[in-house]
Amino acid sequence: MSESLKENNPKIAKAQKLVGVKGMNDILPPDSARWEWLEGQVRALMARYAYRNVRLPIVEPTALFVRGLGEVTDIVEKEMYSFEDRLNGEQLTLRPEGTAGLVRSVVEHNLLYEGGKRLYYMGPMFRHERPQRGRYRQFHQIGAEVLGFGGAEVDAELILLANDLWRVLGLKDVRLEINSLGQPVERQAHRAALIAHLEKHSDVLDEEAKRRLHSNPLRILDTKNPAMQSVVESAPRLLDFLGEASLAHFNAVKAILDANGVTYSINPRLVRGMDYYNLTVFEFITTSLGSQGTICGGGRYDYLIEQVGGKPAPAVGWALGVERVLELIKEQGEPLPDLTPDVYAIIPETAALPVAMLVLQTLRACGVSAQMHAGSGEGMGSMKSQFKKADVSGARFALVFGAQELAQGHVAVKSLRDGEGAQRNEPLNTVAAWAHSLQSAF
Ligand code: ATP
Ligand code: MG
Repeated sequence: MSESLKENNPKIAKAQKLVGVKGMNDILPPDSARWEWLEGQVRALMARYAYRNVRLPIVEPTALFVRGLGEVTDIVEKEMYSFEDRLNGEQLTLRPEGTAGLVRSVVEHNLLYEGGKRLYYMGPMFRHERPQRGRYRQFHQIGAEVLGFGGAEVDAELILLANDLWRVLGLKDVRLEINSLGQPVERQAHRAALIAHLEKHSDVLDEEAKRRLHSNPLRILDTKNPAMQSVVESAPRLLDFLGEASLAHFNAVKAILDANGVTYSINPRLVRGMDYYNLTVFEFITTSLGSQGTICGGGRYDYLIEQVGGKPAPAVGWALGVERVLELIKEQGEPLPDLTPDVYAIIPETAALPVAMLVLQTLRACGVSAQMHAGSGEGMGSMKSQFKKADVSGARFALVFGAQELAQGHVAVKSLRDGEGAQRNEPLNTVAAWAHSLQSAF
C-alpha cells in the first residue's frame, strides 16, 4: 500500500509541488480550534440579540461593488479580484466585503416587506493588498447588520453587541472611537471648506491626496502619512457642519452608550473606507497589534439600499476582522481550546477491528470522543508504537482490545495520565453503562 503513484505507473513524471496563493492562508489544526470556538461564541451571542444568520455568495456582479462602495475607494480602485466569466462574459468580483452583497440580497428577496431585519454573516472576503501581519488577501469577516430601522437605538445596540462580544471572547485593550458623518447635504458644505483648506496647503499633500482632492476629499482625513498630519488636524471638522437632526441622532447614540457604561472617544477624523456611510460611524481599535489595530468598523448607511435599486430604507452595521481578533486573543496568551480525545483505541491485531469499532461507535453515541489507531495497511503495528501514538494524542485513557480480554468479553481500560497506568476491565456488552466514566470532567 505504500508504493507511490510513480511506482504504480512509471509513465507519470514527478509532479511539481504546488503552493497556495500569496496572502491566502490555510487554517489548520490546532489553530482551527480557536476559529471554531470563536464562531460558536458568535452564534450564541447573536442568538441572544435575536440576529439571524445569512449565507451569501462569494461572487457578485462587479457593478454591485462599484456602485455600492464608490468608485474612488481603495477597494474599488485597486483591491478587487475582478474577472470575466469565460462562459458568458459576465463581469464578476470576489466579494471584498459583506454589506453590499447583503443589501443586494435584501432588495432582491424583498426581505424588508414585513419590517426591519437584524442579520449577521461570517465568511471569507478578498482584497488584493500587500500581505502582512493582520492584512491578507483572503481574510474573514463577521458582520452584523440591522436594516429598516432609522433610530439611534439600533446604532447603539450594534455597538453594545460588539462590546459584549469582546467581553465574551475575553479581549482586553480594545477602545471605541465614534464620529458622525452627518447627511449628504451637510457633507457638501463641509466638503467645500475642506477642499479650500487642503488647497491652501497643497505643498504638503501627497500624490494620493492630490488625486482625491476633488473626487473624495473626506478620505484624505484618514491618511496615515505623517507629513500630512498637521494639515489634517487643522482641517475643518465635519462635526461642526452637522445640523440639528444629525446632532440629535449622535447625542442619542452617546446617551445610550453612557447609560450602559461603554467608554468611547469622539474622533472627528474617523471617516471609514466606503462611501456609503452617513451619520454614526465607529471603529474598535487595539494597540496590541501594531499598525493593523482596527479589529471592527461600521456605521450607518441609510442610502445604500436605494443605491442598489431597492425602496429607500435606513440601515446600520459593522464588520470585524476574524484574523485580527484571533491574533489579539493569541497575543493575550490564551491557551488553545482543548480538543484532545477522551480515549485512544489500541488494537493489537486486525482480527479485533470489527468488535473494537462497534465499541467505539457506541462510545461516540454516548458522547465520548474516541480516536482509533489506524494501521499501515499491512497490520496494526507494534503495541509499543500504538502506545506511543496514544500518548501523543493526549487521550486520558487507552482502550486495549487484546485477544485475551476480548475472548472473556472484556476490553482493558488503561489510564494514560497517572504515572502507574491504573488498569481495569470493562464488559463489551454494557458499553453505555461505563461510557461516562471515560469523559473529561467538562
Ligand atoms: P484597514 O484600514 O485596516 O485597511 P478597512 O477600513 O479596509 O481596514 P473594513 O473594510 O472596515 O476595513 O473591514 C472591517 C474589518 O475587517 C477591519 O476592521 C479589519 O479588522 C478587517 N480587515 C479589513 N481588511 C483586511 C485584510 N486585508 N486582512 C485582514 N483583515 C482585514
Ligand atoms: Mg483597507
